[in-house]
Amino acid sequence: AEAGRPPRFDNSYARLPERLFARLPPTPVPAPRLLRLNAPLAGALGLDPAWLASPAGVAMLAGNAMPEGAEPIAQAYAGHQFGHFVPSLGDGRAILIGEVVTPEGLRRDIQLKGSGPTPFSRRGDGRAALGPVLREYIVSEAMAALGIPTTRSLAAVATGDWVMRDDALPGAVLTRIAASHIRVGTFQYFAARRDTEALRILADHAIARHDPAAAEAANPALALLDGVVARQASLVARWMLVGFIHGVMNTDNCAVSGETIDYGPCAFLDEYHPEKVFSSIDRIGRYAYGNQPGIAHWNLARLAECLLPLIAEDEDKALELARASLAGFAPRFGAAWREGLLGKLGLTEEEEDDEALVQDLFTLMAEGGADFTLTFRRLCDAAEGEDAALRSLFAEPAAVDPWLVRWRARLAREGAGRAAAMRAVNPAYIPRNHLVEEAIAAAVQRDDLAPFEALLAVLERPFEDQPGRERHAEPPRPEERVLQTFC
Ligand code: AMP
Ligand code: MG
Ligand code: MG
Repeated sequence: AEAGRPPRFDNSYARLPERLFARLPPTPVPAPRLLRLNAPLAGALGLDPAWLASPAGVAMLAGNAMPEGAEPIAQAYAGHQFGHFVPSLGDGRAILIGEVVTPEGLRRDIQLKGSGPTPFSRRGDGRAALGPVLREYIVSEAMAALGIPTTRSLAAVATGDWVMRDDALPGAVLTRIAASHIRVGTFQYFAARRDTEALRILADHAIARHDPAAAEAANPALALLDGVVARQASLVARWMLVGFIHGVMNTDNCAVSGETIDYGPCAFLDEYHPEKVFSSIDRIGRYAYGNQPGIAHWNLARLAECLLPLIAEDEDKALELARASLAGFAPRFGAAWREGLLGKLGLTEEEEDDEALVQDLFTLMAEGGADFTLTFRRLCDAAEGEDAALRSLFAEPAAVDPWLVRWRARLAREGAGRAAAMRAVNPAYIPRNHLVEEAIAAAVQRDDLAPFEALLAVLERPFEDQPGRERHAEPPRPEERVLQTFC
């Protein structure tokens, strides 16, 4: 007997023309085992956690059996990977099984990642290893708890099979939830084929899902571009305000919804440095921490190019309009970044010297090797007069004293209660690279999910000090440092 209520699908993407995707079911796996179900997320989506955990539910999450109403497809997309255009990427190891509409009326994709080969797999096996699946689960859920737009993780299932990488690794399937999986690269796929009809259909679909007001605008395609520019500008600012480095900002990993997508070799800064890179595949630092706004802008220019034929028939006119839209990126990013930084310093209304105050703190952090997250968290204590712990983060604690004098004078012009406001925006807990690695290692090497569960529990409430969880707030000890991340 079936426990609970299966999903009610409403698959708008699968109703689009067939050339936007390939229809195929996921490839079954030998021994599915539910490792983690995100019951609160299931509830928010209007899905029944009891059904998801039932044999029929696990069969869906593993890709072994599609429930009624699922219409599995692999989506076509292209993309610039590290600046090189690849005209056909597509879901090579993911399958969109369908869409649901939440009780709040929000449409959400349900996608299996690691669900077997598709026509887009090229030479890949279509599978995912357990480590990267748990990594995406942890980091995407941490981002959500930090209030940053992101795809979510509904479930992780072990496949009972091995995937061949450099070693044989246990395989897993991640169930990813997204506002949509439409990427800049989705538009590029059809632009590269000069398929303006498909571009128009895709743009209309994206507008309906992400920018419904743009449908009423004088120039809907331009309004869509404006919307994506605004969302990406805000998103990248929010990444940087928590020290996040995406690691692979290829255009196929840039979602028009404005959600963070495709957690590969992403990482969080420990000590601050603007040129920090963790990803083993980012050899020249294209996607370094401080390069992210420029790269997002570059990606948006690629989207703008795709949309030109929809923006105006006259190419010069289309270019002029697209350029004006792209010009909105820098001020939007700048405003979101400055506003976020002011909040992190406990300030409300910007004053003339605030920019220098912020810049000087970053210079001190870089020179002093100060931990990004703890600097801002301990600044909350410093707002209440406790500055020993903050000072100890800097190689030369006395170097930060003149800055603290300036900041305190500035803070004195603000109202009361600044420390509490600061604690609401400066997290105590982020998914530190060494903790993520430790959780993954325990799961992969010892089948021990306890560190993974403990880490997830801490990261659910990143802005609350959690007694007994001090180690989760600490930077790595020298021997724990993660120097490189892998996808
Ligand atoms: P990603 O690095 O996840 O953004 O993927 C880039 C492209 O490589 C996408 O088209 C993926 O579907 C494809 N890809 C990555 N890993 C695999 C794999 N194991 N099997 C098949 N395709 C893959
Ligand atoms: Mg097709
Ligand atoms: Mg990708």
